Amino acid sequence: MASLFSRKVIAWQATHGRHSLPWQMRQGPYSVWLSEVMLQQTQVATVQNFYPQFLAKFPTVKSLAAAPLDDVLALWSGMGYYTRARNLHRAANQVMTDFGGEFPKTAEGLEQLVGVGRSTAAAIAAFCYGERVAILDGNVKRVLARVLAFEGDLANAAQVRLLWDKAIALLPTHNLKKTMPAYTQGLMDMGATLCHARAPDCVSCPVASICKASISKACEAYPIKKKKLKRSTESIWLLHATRKSRQGDAVLLQQRPLDGASKVWAGLFSLPPFASEAALQAAVPQALHPQLVFQPVFKHVLTHKDMWLHVVRVQLPANSKLPAVQGDWFALGDALLLGLPAPIRKLLAAQ
Ligand code: SF4
Repeated sequence: MASLFSRKVIAWQATHGRHSLPWQMRQGPYSVWLSEVMLQQTQVATVQNFYPQFLAKFPTVKSLAAAPLDDVLALWSGMGYYTRARNLHRAANQVMTDFGGEFPKTAEGLEQLVGVGRSTAAAIAAFCYGERVAILDGNVKRVLARVLAFEGDLANAAQVRLLWDKAIALLPTHNLKKTMPAYTQGLMDMGATLCHARAPDCVSCPVASICKASISKACEAYPIKKKKLKRSTESIWLLHATRKSRQGDAVLLQQRPLDGASKVWAGLFSLPPFASEAALQAAVPQALHPQLVFQPVFKHVLTHKDMWLHVVRVQLPANSKLPAVQGDWFALGDALLLGLPAPIRKLLAAQ
């Protein structure tokens, strides 16, 4: 089955796979790494918008490593999951200082870079060096679990390792420089365009005749994942203070610490946050309390957490200050160029 499977995937990729994604136009580990990290938690359509801008601003790993982190976060703004941008910057510096400016040439070496896990390292090594290593991102887990009717619970790390072993056994064995990139891309393309979580398009799928889940008409029973993510909730009060300046409205923003207890929005610029309404009120002079305007609360959904955002607006006279609130004043136009969390960007854009 192994060689039949890889041959079918490769043949399908040549005729039906994706060939014109922006990151497929360039070779080399830097651009592949960049696109793989962006694609880890962001939809292809969004990455297609961000990737060319990012590459234009940071065309080499050297330019990325030399850039201030704030510039990287600003350009990442809108893609979410900012830990990736912080890790990208750290990894670029690792490449420059620990690897003499060259990316490691094996998956094992690539895994030493911050933010590069086993699957991402395998994708880079397969695409750039033709190394015989298996990717296993969410989409590929779904494809392989269905093809093999894999009964293991993928919430269990030991079962994931077992599926990884099976993924390795399915890899091409010949002409690896050519077959590994095509096969790896083919699996990604099948996961993205055919083998959807709901209602997979088995009729168009090149491996339908050997896919155990499809043959037994039980596609949606796989992959098996029993453990549910535990979600938490958090309420934050955000002080949306504005004042007139020579360039129009200015807004008070606070850069969140990189090493604070909460990693949410670390390094980004936010409206000053408070843990409670009382804490916010205590930071604002008593005389301004009658001018505080409480906006309707809204929910911002993160992977593991629902954040309830309570925005409290206050308009201050020109040049006034809020000494008990940390932050800096930015003209609105300048603020929108900073690295901002998505809900804060939305609020400021609507200001
Ligand atoms: S045959 Fe259907 S279930 Fe099996 S891999 Fe293809 S699309 Fe997925």
